[in-house]
Amino acid sequence: MDLRRRTRVDRGPVARRGAGAVGVVTEWVRATPDADLAASATAAFRDAFGGLPDGVWVAPGRVNLIGEHVDYAGGLSLPIALSHRTAVAVRERRDGHLRLRSGLGSWEGAVDAVGPGAPSGWPAYLAGVVWAMRRSGLCGTDFGAHVAVASAVPIGAGLSSSAALECALAIAVADLVGAPTDDAGRTALAAACVAAENEIALAPTGGMDQAIALHARAGHAVLVDSGDGTVAPVPFDLGADGLALLVIDTRAPHRLVDGQYAQRRRSVEDAAAQLGVPTLRHATRTDLDRLGDPLTERRARHVVTEIDRVREVLQFLSSGSLREVGAVLTSSHISLRDDFEVSCPELDSAVDAALAAGAHGARMTGGGFGGSAIALVDVADVDRVAGEVLSTAETRGLVAPAFLRIDTGGAAARRVTPVS
Ligand code: ADP
Ligand code: MG
Repeated sequence: MDLRRRTRVDRGPVARRGAGAVGVVTEWVRATPDADLAASATAAFRDAFGGLPDGVWVAPGRVNLIGEHVDYAGGLSLPIALSHRTAVAVRERRDGHLRLRSGLGSWEGAVDAVGPGAPSGWPAYLAGVVWAMRRSGLCGTDFGAHVAVASAVPIGAGLSSSAALECALAIAVADLVGAPTDDAGRTALAAACVAAENEIALAPTGGMDQAIALHARAGHAVLVDSGDGTVAPVPFDLGADGLALLVIDTRAPHRLVDGQYAQRRRSVEDAAAQLGVPTLRHATRTDLDRLGDPLTERRARHVVTEIDRVREVLQFLSSGSLREVGAVLTSSHISLRDDFEVSCPELDSAVDAALAAGAHGARMTGGGFGGSAIALVDVADVDRVAGEVLSTAETRGLVAPAFLRIDTGGAAARRVTPVS
C-alpha cells in the first residue's frame, strides 16, 4: 500500500510551543476550497490527457466522532465529513477503457480486465468503482473515462482518503450516465464503492466511510446504522457552543497490523456466536458474563459499551449538551486502548496531551494502530492544545503529528464546476 503523502501542508504560523520544542512547528493541514481543488484537478487533467473534463466532482474525507470497531457488529457510528475533500475531473468515453492520473502516478487499462487485486495500488480504488457500478447495472458495459485526481485529504491517516476518492468518482459516473443520485441512489453508489474497496483493492472496509462521503450534510454528523444499513443526518453545530474538533494526524509509522483487524473481527463474531445472537448489537452488558474466555469478553465489552456510548452522545447532541460529549469520547478511547487493544503510543500520547491541556475529551478515531485522534476543545484553545500535543510527542520521542480543524461537516459529494 502506498502511503506517500501528497497533502498540501502549511508550515506555520508557529503555534505556541511547549518547552523543549524548539524548531518544531505545528503543521496545519488546511482544507483547500472546492474551486481551487477543481482548478488543480482540471490542470492535472489537461496535463495528462489534453482538453477539458466533462466536469469535476468532489467527496469529503471524514472523522468518526464515536462508534469505533462496531460496524461489523451491526452497530452505530457517528462520522462527520471533513472540509478536506478529493476532486476528480472526468471525461466520459464509450469504449470501456480507463485512463487515470493522480499524484501517485498514471494507469490505463480496460474495465474488462479489472478483477480482485487487478489493478493493485491506488488505481484499484478508481477502476474498482467503475467495475462495481457496471456489475450492479449502474453504468453500461461501454462506460470508460479519463480521470484526474486532486486531493486535500491526507492519505493513509485514517481520515478516509480512499472512500473520498471512490465516492467522488462514483457520483461523477452516476451524473454522467444519469443514474439516480437521490438518497437511495447514493446508498447504491456507496455499496458499489464498498465492493470496489473490498473486492478489487482487497482492503477491508465496513461501509461507514462511503456512507458519510455520499450522505454528508453541512452542519450535521451522520448516524450510520450498520445493522440495517440506514443513514440519518444528526444536527451537529460545535461552533454555536464555542467548541471545535481538533484532529491530530499522528503520522505514526505504518505497522504490520493486517492480521490484527481480522483477529478483532473474529473475536467479535465468536462472541456473538457464543451468546447466540446474530451480532453483538443484540447483546447487553449483562450478557458479557456468559462469555467464558476473558479476552473474548474484553473485546465484546468494547463493542457493547461503544454502541451504548453512541446512544449517549446522540442524547447529548439532542439536548444541546455538547460539552458532555467530551467525557464519552475519552471513555471510548480507554475502551479501545484497554479492552479492544487497537491504540498505540502515538495515539495515547495525543489523547493524554490533549486532555492534560484542557480538552473536554479526546479519543483515537478510525481503525487504530496509528492514524488520527480527535479532541473536543474550546475554539479559543485549539492552537494551545495542538502545541501541547506536539511538544508531548516530542518529549516522548514520537514523530511530530499534523493537525486539522473541523468546521462541522462538509458537503456531500457533488459537482463543483461545470467546466466550459
Ligand atoms: P485512508 O482511507 O484512511 O486514507 P486507506 O489505506 O484506506 O487509508 O487508503 C489509502 C489509499 O487510497 C492510498 O494508499 C491510495 O492507494 C488511495 N488513495 C487515497 N487518496 C488518493 C489520491 N488522492 N490519489 C491516489 N490514490 C489515493
Ligand atoms: Mg480508507
